[in-house]
Amino acid sequence: MGTGEPTDRPLLEVRELKTHFFTRAGIVRAVNGVSFSVMPGETLGLVGESGSGKTITCLSILKLLPRGARLIAGQVLFEGEDLVSKPEADMEAIRGRRIGLILQNSMAALDPVFTIGTQVAEPLVVHQKLSWKAAWQRAVELLRMVRIGAPEIRVKHYPHELSGGMRQRASSAAAIGPVPSLLIADEPTTALDVTTQRQYLDLLKEIQAETGIAIIFVTHDMSIIGNLCDRIAVFYGGLVVEAGPKAQVFNQPSHPYTQALLRAIPILGQKVERLESIRGEPPNLGRLPAGCPFHPRCEYVTDICRRGDPPPVFQLQDARQVRCWLREDEHVGEPLRGPEPDQTLSREKRPSQA
Ligand code: SF4
Repeated sequence: MGTGEPTDRPLLEVRELKTHFFTRAGIVRAVNGVSFSVMPGETLGLVGESGSGKTITCLSILKLLPRGARLIAGQVLFEGEDLVSKPEADMEAIRGRRIGLILQNSMAALDPVFTIGTQVAEPLVVHQKLSWKAAWQRAVELLRMVRIGAPEIRVKHYPHELSGGMRQRASSAAAIGPVPSLLIADEPTTALDVTTQRQYLDLLKEIQAETGIAIIFVTHDMSIIGNLCDRIAVFYGGLVVEAGPKAQVFNQPSHPYTQALLRAIPILGQKVERLESIRGEPPNLGRLPAGCPFHPRCEYVTDICRRGDPPPVFQLQDARQVRCWLREDEHVGEPLRGPEPDQTLSREKRPSQA
């Protein structure tokens, strides 16, 4: 349960996670060595273009992988237990009860043949062993909490009778009902208009303040996580390429991909002729380039970036970590993860400063 009490121990630690798809055309390295942690009560934003590995990382945490995908390496430590080795029966007890999930498509998340009340109440019956009567009353309270008007009436409605924004609120009510300590929200605002989106993000913050729940918020849109997240992990090519506290990542982005994502955000009140788009195409995870996966699109690319394995994780002087050979003088100590830097490459061959 999310108590919100301060603690130094991460609630979730994902270590060197690898999930690959084994297809007739070859291996698709959807998640290729992802590491990050989430502290109790905080919000971590996973941001990156579609197909960068964010969603498959979340599905790997929950062991809800699509057909053809296999978790081949790494650890997922949740409240001190490694979920990777858990049998399915244990995972069923963890999903919903201890880790909640909100999906992008609320219409797909809610079953069209059951009322909203049944779908919000059911997790309470299953996970909290409430009677149906008590769970139904709690469902009304939860719908009120997510600011659905006339909840006593809405609770009897079917999903198609609600607007898109209301359905997303209802599926959030179902996810937070059993008071999980971690909520994974995968692109929950993508289908919503801008106003509804803002209201929904405010709602998530309120829920967090009230329950102390930790949130992993997945999005391709850097502009919407500014007010919501405490820390950010930027995904590219199945890897986290930069991670750190939100203010540091926003104010001093280190990785050229993070810089490009930020240049693509419209700034309120600032008139620009045209927002910058990131040149080139996202990588094909079935045919990743050698070296840094961003190198075909990077304006600072040099020899070392095109060779061998992706850059290792470097700690910067503040709390950020980055997978990039740039700014060697800002790296603190030895690389934290990944292959050692190629010692045969001289310092002069590293990219110049961005
Ligand atoms: S400078 Fe090299 S390592 Fe850094 S992002 Fe560009 S290509 Fe990748």
